[in-house]
Amino acid sequence: MSVEERLREIQGRMAKAATEANREPESVSLVAVSKTFEADDIRPVIATGQRIFGENRVQEAQGKWPALQAETTGIELHLIGPLQSNKAAEAVALFDVIETVDREKIARTLAQECKRQNRTLRFYIQVNTGLEPQKAGIAPDDVAAFVRLCRDELGLNVEGLMCIPPVDENPGPHFALLAKLAGENDVARLSMGMSGDFETAIGFGATTVRVGSAIFGRR
Ligand SMILES: *Cc1c(COP(=O)(O)O)cnc(C)c1O
Repeated sequence: MSVEERLREIQGRMAKAATEANREPESVSLVAVSKTFEADDIRPVIATGQRIFGENRVQEAQGKWPALQAETTGIELHLIGPLQSNKAAEAVALFDVIETVDREKIARTLAQECKRQNRTLRFYIQVNTGLEPQKAGIAPDDVAAFVRLCRDELGLNVEGLMCIPPVDENPGPHFALLAKLAGENDVARLSMGMSGDFETAIGFGATTVRVGSAIFGRR
């Protein structure tokens, strides 16, 4: 299958999952996760009309996206990997959406950088739904206070919540928990679901699915 055929197949599966959940297919957007792939692998995906892409490392993204953005207008770039404070300025300059706001310090640094660079980004709070010690994210019990801090004190545009369920568990309960937290905190969007479980995530209300290997192939 060509990359174009793979992309069409995924879009078809997304639309079917949305319809089965009594949702509009247009209510779910696809973030094509291009991490580890090079500009030459990404261009054919852009050529199909895909405009939203995800990267998990600031430095890697800086190496390929400025050139691709210069070739095509309307690219929307999402940071989906952990962000260190010393990379915050570069992240604010390059990305449109940061999905991994996961602690107070980085939230404060991002707010300062947006102000300094006069940039308006959209943000997702990463939630550690499985309370995994090695995984980043706000604990579910702390989400309400953290959303308030980000919005009311720091003025960040908190558009959504994001989670990465534990690899060895049924993801459904994690997606359900994220949806519940979003409802309780007046957060509109849910970034959840990857190549292996995006249809399940759509069933639980995902508005953004992050799909890498099913589009680009194995990393
Ligand atoms: C790599 C990655 C994805 C995409 O995973 P696939 O299984 O390749 O679809 C999604 N979300 C995050 C946070 C990732 O790091």
